[in-house]
Amino acid sequence: MLHKKEIPADPVWYPFTQMQELAGKSPLIISAANGCWLEDEKGKQYLDGVSSLWANVHGHRHPVIDRAVKEQLGRVAHTTMLGLSHPGGIELARQLVRLTPEGLTRVFYSDSGATAVEIALKMAYQYWQLRGEKQRHKFLKLSEAYHGDTIGAVSLGGMDLFHERFGRLLFATVKVPTPHTYRHPFPVEGEKDIVDRYFALAEELIEKHSEQACGFIVEPLIQGAAGMIVHPTGYLKHIRDLTRRHDMLLIADEVAVGFGRTGKMFASEWEDVSPDLLCLGKGITAGYMPLAATMATEEIFSAFLGDFKELKTFFHGHTYTGNPLACAAALASLAVFAGEKTLDAAVFGPKAQKYNDGMKKLKQLEHVGSVRYKGLMGGVELVKNKNTREAYPFEERVGNRVIMAARKEGLMLRPLGDVIVLMPPLAVSLEELDLLFTATEKAIIKVTE
Ligand SMILES: *Cc1c(COP(=O)(O)O)cnc(C)c1O
Repeated sequence: MLHKKEIPADPVWYPFTQMQELAGKSPLIISAANGCWLEDEKGKQYLDGVSSLWANVHGHRHPVIDRAVKEQLGRVAHTTMLGLSHPGGIELARQLVRLTPEGLTRVFYSDSGATAVEIALKMAYQYWQLRGEKQRHKFLKLSEAYHGDTIGAVSLGGMDLFHERFGRLLFATVKVPTPHTYRHPFPVEGEKDIVDRYFALAEELIEKHSEQACGFIVEPLIQGAAGMIVHPTGYLKHIRDLTRRHDMLLIADEVAVGFGRTGKMFASEWEDVSPDLLCLGKGITAGYMPLAATMATEEIFSAFLGDFKELKTFFHGHTYTGNPLACAAALASLAVFAGEKTLDAAVFGPKAQKYNDGMKKLKQLEHVGSVRYKGLMGGVELVKNKNTREAYPFEERVGNRVIMAARKEGLMLRPLGDVIVLMPPLAVSLEELDLLFTATEKAIIKVTE
C-alpha cells in the first residue's frame, strides 16, 4: 500500500531522550565494537566506560560467546516456553541455581530487568494470597529506588524525576529512607550516627507494616540509577534479618549489581544474604541479548502447586521468555567467567586496585563531592561547592557536559544527573582503566574549573 505520509530520516523515538534536542538528527551511531571499544560510523573509537548501559561483561564480540550464539542459530533461534522447553534454558536454570545464594531453586525467565521485577512482585503478591493471607498487599521500597520503567516497577521506584508524573497510575507503597551517607535529610553527628538512624528507620517501618506487607524490595549494596548510592556495610543483612523476623519476603533486585559488577558474582554474597526472590537482568547474557530471570525459593514455588482447578497457576509469560539465543549467550558467559577467572582478575587483582586509586584521585578534584563504588561499579558526584555539598543547578547539566567532553577524549560515558558513572566491562585492561580515569579527569576539569 502506498502512503502519503512523510518518512522521517530517523523515525526512532529514543529512550530517556528529549527529542527536540536532536533536532531531527540521530544520536551518535555506533556501527561496530570489539573488546571494550565501540566504533562509530566514521571509524572513531571510544572506550565503553559504562559497559553499554551496565550490561557488557567480557567485552564485545567475545569469541566464546559469539560462537555459542552462532551455533545456537544453527539449531533454532526461537520457539516458546509456553508449553515447550529447550536444552539451553534448562541448563542455564540449573547453573543459575548452582551459582546464586542458598535457598533459590527455581528460575522464571523473562526478557528485561523491568519484567523480572514485575514477575517478582506478582509472585510475592500471589504467594501470600495462596497462603491465605489476603490482607497482604503492600510493598516496602527504598527512597530513590529504581526497578525499571513499566508501571509495576515504577510503583516500586522512588525517583521523583522519573516516577512522580505517573503517581495516579501507581499502587501505593511504603518508602523507607535510603541509607545515603553523603546526602541525608537530617542533621547527624558522624558516620555511625547516620547508620544507626537509617537502621532504626527501616526497623520502625518494617515493624509497622509487617501484617500487610508482601515484601521489601532492595537493590543490594548499590542503588544504581539513583546515582550509585552505596549502602553502609551491614544494611542489607539488617533488612534480611528484619524481613525474616517480621515474616515478609525480601526481593533482591540484582539486575545491575549481579554478574560480578561489585566483585562477587552476586552482591548479596557480600553480606551472606539469601533473598526470597532474586531479579537478574543486564549482565546475565554478558550484554549480548535481552534476557532476565526471577528466581524463587522452594517455599514460594511450592505454594503455587495444586490441582489445575484450584487456579494456583502463575498466569504470567512473555513471547520471548527464555529465548534460546539469549540462553546460549548466558551459558557461554558463565563458561567465560569460569575459564578466564574473570572475578579474580577484575576484583582481587590489580584492576580493582587501579580502579580504587583512580577514584581516590578523582576525589581530590575541586568539584568532586563524593566518589562511591564497590568492585568495578561506581560513580563520581560533581558539586558546585565541595564544603557545603551544594549541587549544581539542574538546568546546567554539568554531568552531561562532562560526558560530552569525555567523548572527545575517546571515552563513552552516560551520567546520572551530576553523577558520572564509571562502570567498565569486567574485561577492561589496566591500560584501558588508565584511559578511563585520565579522560574522566580531563573532562571534569574542563567543565568545572
Ligand atoms: C536497569 C535496571 C532495571 C531495569 O532493567 P531493564 O532491562 O532496563 O528493564 C531494574 N532494576 C535495576 C536495579 C536496574 O539497574
